[in-house]
Amino acid sequence: MTTLQSILNTLDELAPLRMAESWDNVGLLVGDRSREVHRVLCCLTVTDATLDEAIGSEADLMVSHHPIPFKPVSRITADSTTGTLLLRAIEHRIAIYSPHTAWDNSELGINAQLAKQIGLQNVRPLAPFAADMRAPLDTGTGRCGILPTETSIESLQNTLVKSIPHCQFRHTHSIQRGVQKVGIVCGSGGSLLGLAIKAGCDAMLTGEATYHQCLEAEANNVALLLVGHFASESFAMTALAAHLSRLHPEVSSMASQREYSLF
Ligand SMILES: [Zn+2]
Repeated sequence: MTTLQSILNTLDELAPLRMAESWDNVGLLVGDRSREVHRVLCCLTVTDATLDEAIGSEADLMVSHHPIPFKPVSRITADSTTGTLLLRAIEHRIAIYSPHTAWDNSELGINAQLAKQIGLQNVRPLAPFAADMRAPLDTGTGRCGILPTETSIESLQNTLVKSIPHCQFRHTHSIQRGVQKVGIVCGSGGSLLGLAIKAGCDAMLTGEATYHQCLEAEANNVALLLVGHFASESFAMTALAAHLSRLHPEVSSMASQREYSLF
């Protein structure tokens, strides 16, 4: 018998919760740690589509990258989207766990995977964790590294489109020079542009950024490479399901097949 707690222990080895950002709401958000788990569905976000899929496949646990609830809630009713989703999950005895920024930041996590996909070398966090967290030295917020040779944005685009499913590539295009030092922040990383500027990056790869963040990037001569929020993270939930399958062969773990990208 595999309990929810034993799956959570494994998830904490893959994406240690101590590596999450302080503002985040990670870990077990819905569920009973003593329950048995037979099926796990990994997805980017708990939505009607992914919840339908979890119910249809009789999943006991949804590992959702994005937390639900994210902010404190004072009631769980069908009067709000969050309440409706939580009620349905609870009614179907589906636990919800979110690794979110713990999975972004960890050694095997999303930013590290993106760095590998574009071939960065000398990879370091954009903002390393404080030494007193007893985390490995190479963990922290975002990543930055050096491409083996100076590369055009078009060439990076080809690499990203080939390696990231659902990639919707856009970039701030006033910068004509080549790119060698690249910062990476998966998801909505525009707010961390300052870290990439401080690190002296030529470009920053992220999911999405606002108009004003794009202007700020241009003003600082940093190219923003935008692949879409969904594309920048959803591949990593497939990878997380594969890790769970390898470490818990007695449990059926799969990535969502029905989740779709809005952007
Ligand atoms: Zn995200």
